[in-house]
Amino acid sequence: MSLRDILLRQIAVDGPLSLADYMQTCLLHPDHGYYATRDPLGASGDFITAPEISQMFGELLGLCLAQSWMDQGGGPCVLAELGPGRGTLMADMLRATNTIPGFAPQLHLVEASPALRAVQRATLEGHDITWHDSAATLPPAPLYLVANEFFDALPIRQFIRQGRGWAEKRVGAEGDALQFGLTEPVPMEALAHRLADTKDGDVVELCPAAPPVIAEISARIAQHGGAALIVDYGDWISLGDTFQAVKDHSPTDPLQTPGTADLTAHVDFSALAAASACRASQMIAQGELLHRLGIGPRAQQIAESFDAKSDEKGVQSHLAAYQRLTDPAQMGTLFKAIALYPKGAQPPPGFDEQG
Ligand code: SAH
Repeated sequence: MSLRDILLRQIAVDGPLSLADYMQTCLLHPDHGYYATRDPLGASGDFITAPEISQMFGELLGLCLAQSWMDQGGGPCVLAELGPGRGTLMADMLRATNTIPGFAPQLHLVEASPALRAVQRATLEGHDITWHDSAATLPPAPLYLVANEFFDALPIRQFIRQGRGWAEKRVGAEGDALQFGLTEPVPMEALAHRLADTKDGDVVELCPAAPPVIAEISARIAQHGGAALIVDYGDWISLGDTFQAVKDHSPTDPLQTPGTADLTAHVDFSALAAASACRASQMIAQGELLHRLGIGPRAQQIAESFDAKSDEKGVQSHLAAYQRLTDPAQMGTLFKAIALYPKGAQPPPGFDEQG
């Protein structure tokens, strides 16, 4: 049975699905889910992420976490990643930090996809790694954690303001076709705080799965120390329809071929900060953060390591990667970051305290 047939049957039994239920099934269904069945990353996949663009991304985030570890007095700790993709970011972090005296973290990866776990195992061969299905089983220890393009893959619900109520967007069926529909508007406690800054017709998204993840990691950081770096595309507060499907590096209809396209939504960073049991930094644009962490000199150093005459292409593609990560017209401002860190500690390098 195809995923479309499974969804049609589910809709026939239970009625239209929330976008969250639709996303969850399309991304993680054990037999047909997008992440469950393939490695979608990289130039030959459907999309490319910062660590796949350049090693500098993981190096700088790794050094940022290691500096925070030193600032908090060092000692045994856990280095963890949520949604590690191909394991490239973790590999770059480990390489950049492996000469730091005393920094010998236990490695923990939270990954739902068996296909990607296998890729991570190969990328990180030689390292002792524990995999988890969810952040809830991470050990109670000082936690240094990174999550890049993880929260954008978590399922969202979408609401359209009508008067003082909210109509929810749903996926229903018309014959054999999947189709969007709307519920009747109802007042919603969870969106009461958005009545002041929205008007009729505005779209607001909620990601119910995100706060519990933040609660797990921030509780460990509050109790044992550590820091979390969260990087994703999104903004401080959710406004507008950001649900999108990408296949072969191009936008596609999210209802056309369920399970074969990446489905994402922008991250609402204020919702992550609000769920934190430890301190949350100000949000910062990715380009600005990487500049503060020293991507300029690092890019220069790597450029000089190429033999400019015989490997002009290598130099060019390295400089293009640097541009792509930092340029406001590319990923520089679309992607944002926040850090979580303990009360009483200073924020990790590059991040500012909230005023
Ligand atoms: N961080 C990587 C990959 C981003 S793609 C990079 O920057 O290249 C999203 C990753 O999150 C994939 O590894 C995917 O399998 C994983 N993922 C998505 N939903 C998840 C969930 N609910 N629980 C655990 N992992 C999840």
